[in-house]
Amino acid sequence: MLNIGCHLSVSKGFSHIAKEAVSINANTFQFFTRNPQGGKAKDWDITDIENYKKTAAEHHFAPIVAHAPYTLNPCSDNPQTREFAQMVFAQDLSKLSLIPDAYYNFHPGSHVGQGTQQGINMIVDLLNNVLKPEFPNMVLLETMSGKGSEIGKTFAELSEIISGVKLKEKLGVCMDTCHIFAAGYDIVHNLDNVLADFDKIIGLTKLKAVHLNDSLMPFASHKDRHAKIGEGEIGAKALTEFVNNPYIKNLPIILETPNEIDGYAREIQFLRSSTI
Ligand code: FE
Ligand code: FE
Ligand code: ZN
Repeated sequence: MLNIGCHLSVSKGFSHIAKEAVSINANTFQFFTRNPQGGKAKDWDITDIENYKKTAAEHHFAPIVAHAPYTLNPCSDNPQTREFAQMVFAQDLSKLSLIPDAYYNFHPGSHVGQGTQQGINMIVDLLNNVLKPEFPNMVLLETMSGKGSEIGKTFAELSEIISGVKLKEKLGVCMDTCHIFAAGYDIVHNLDNVLADFDKIIGLTKLKAVHLNDSLMPFASHKDRHAKIGEGEIGAKALTEFVNNPYIKNLPIILETPNEIDGYAREIQFLRSSTI
């Protein structure tokens, strides 16, 4: 059985979200640790988390994914923005330790003209400052489309970040299908080669989660526009083959398609029934 879910709002709490996930036949989900634009995060309610854990255990949930706010940019050219990123990251990791098997996914950052190398160095600095041996959660670098000055558009860039980090055992990668397709990895015609490449450069053991999205924009366009499954340039066939690939099918698979809850329910149903 695939481990599949979607991005959901956690505003009503974790036990609510878990029941919502179960109601659409999901056994994982993703949520923002705080308002995606950043800002102050509410404290989590311990009882709510305990109730969530009961539902998750009962329904055999795969690890869930906490997503850092989009505004978090470890390689901004503004030192205050970098400091803010570090503060948010550290706070989120400390809260997430209540759900030790959850992944913490973040966009590596945009170097805003400082150059890829400088950007990578700053991301490495942030990770070396905030990762602590006592934090149980694994941190995931998301593969990016390469729009603007985004870092993480190639496996080599992600590998360079990982190799600069001392506690690299705490790092993994979340592969976003829309992003890698837009970045120029041909998962439609050459999935095996793309995964072989990933294995050679990063190592498939580092692949921990998937964002499953179709892409409104063409191959190698370096544009980041998610489409519903089967309504984009990747297509339903390639995405079905993707989720059923032996290296993918046991990972938590998160839909970030432009849907309301009923649309997510249909996509989950479609993907589950497509299991080969
Ligand atoms: Fe993301
Ligand atoms: Fe994503
Ligand atoms: Zn995206």
